[in-house]
Amino acid sequence: MDISIIGSGYVGLVTGACFADVGHSVVCVDNDQRKVDTLRSGQIPIYEPGLEDVVHRNVSARRLRFTNSIEDGVHHSQIVFIAVPTPPQPDGSVDLTYIERVAREIAEVLKEYRVIVDKSTVPVKTGEKVAETIRRYNKAGVDFDVVSNPEFLREGCAVADLMNPDRIVVGSNSDRALALMKKVYEPFMAPIMVTDVNSAELIKHAANSFLALKISYINAISAICEASGADVERVADGIGADKRIGRSFLNAGLGYGGSCFPKDVAAFIAISEQLGVPFLLLKEVQRINQVQRERFLKKIRDTLWVLRDKRIAVWGLTFKPDTDDVRNSVAIDLVNNLLQEGAIVHAYDPKGMDKVAELDLCKGVTLAKSALAAVQNAEALVLATEWNEFQRIDFEQVRKAMHTPIVFDGRNLFDPGTMKELGFRYYGIGRAG
Ligand code: NAD
Repeated sequence: MDISIIGSGYVGLVTGACFADVGHSVVCVDNDQRKVDTLRSGQIPIYEPGLEDVVHRNVSARRLRFTNSIEDGVHHSQIVFIAVPTPPQPDGSVDLTYIERVAREIAEVLKEYRVIVDKSTVPVKTGEKVAETIRRYNKAGVDFDVVSNPEFLREGCAVADLMNPDRIVVGSNSDRALALMKKVYEPFMAPIMVTDVNSAELIKHAANSFLALKISYINAISAICEASGADVERVADGIGADKRIGRSFLNAGLGYGGSCFPKDVAAFIAISEQLGVPFLLLKEVQRINQVQRERFLKKIRDTLWVLRDKRIAVWGLTFKPDTDDVRNSVAIDLVNNLLQEGAIVHAYDPKGMDKVAELDLCKGVTLAKSALAAVQNAEALVLATEWNEFQRIDFEQVRKAMHTPIVFDGRNLFDPGTMKELGFRYYGIGRAG
């Protein structure tokens, strides 16, 4: 199949590369000329495990190329995927200007039938608006279909998720479009769930909000564990062993961040309000998520007392491990809170420091060369993102390097017993002892 993807970010680039890898001919379009130049020069603008190999392999095989021209993309392909940002507005509702602009640009160059597929996360009923917009701006009155195909990949394992999806949701009422979509996804051998456009759009917001709800649920329980002396890890194991519930997303910690969950929960609240059926449960999900990081900061303050001029090491800056994405990262928020209170913060992250420096996200932080360099002379260590690298560190060396061996584990990465044996004062989230 000939496919184009408009927007070559975390979703668009990985999707384009994986489509090419199963044999399709793909053009990735982006209006950021610098990004297109970077990709054309063989460099990958984001860190995503395995992505570089897939991109290089398919560029060499001439199945994947990059352009800044939507016209080029639309002419090349039978199917045009849209994967541009849908950021939040101050009131939580979705800013759809990127989607509208792309719809207009497609309309202006549309000369024959195309399937326009929305892969961005959008509010229910956006497909109708996209179709209306294309109809309005396409002077030639060309036939087309708009399909919703939400993306469920997780950053950090996006290539694997794309190649082995749990399910593929395709929302469309057109047999012609559905037949083409099935051909695109045939090589992935995953269940394809066909729905109407509105249901497909709703599935994405409902899924992400449910995952955020699971995180807030266990975080609320972690507070009850701390107040009662129970251990949230044991409680999560006990709950999660029930197949109806499942253990995943029941990891107590600093709460969810990133470019998806906070924005998608806020969007779903706004959507439900606009539809006149406010989803109040999700407001509580948001509140718990905010309170969780405040409780953690309080724990640091209660232990260290005055933070001004105290040297604190922070491990992890990305919003989750195995990515360089620092958008809406709880770790960054935490570092900025510590800096605001006058602490001297030395932070280290395996992949996120370039972006933190480039975007100047933590004014006044010192970015350390290694995890061990960050803890030199530190009065406390804060674990903010659970990279594997931190689990493999020699904690004897860490203790010797620190001024005072105190660890605040914001992701329950370390074993409290082991840490105590090693001579640390250890504070996790919702953990006994
Ligand atoms: P991103 O910011 O990484 O990438 C978007 C890209 O679109 C950028 O490269 C930008 O330059 C480009 N772009 C913007 N306007 C354009 C235009 N008019 N023409 C061509 N290119 C344009 O965003 P992302 O993380 O890939 O997210 C894209 C969408 O997918 C969002 O709706 C997001 O909610 C959704 N989504 C993201 C994830 C994730 O894990 N990142 C997962 C599932 C769904």
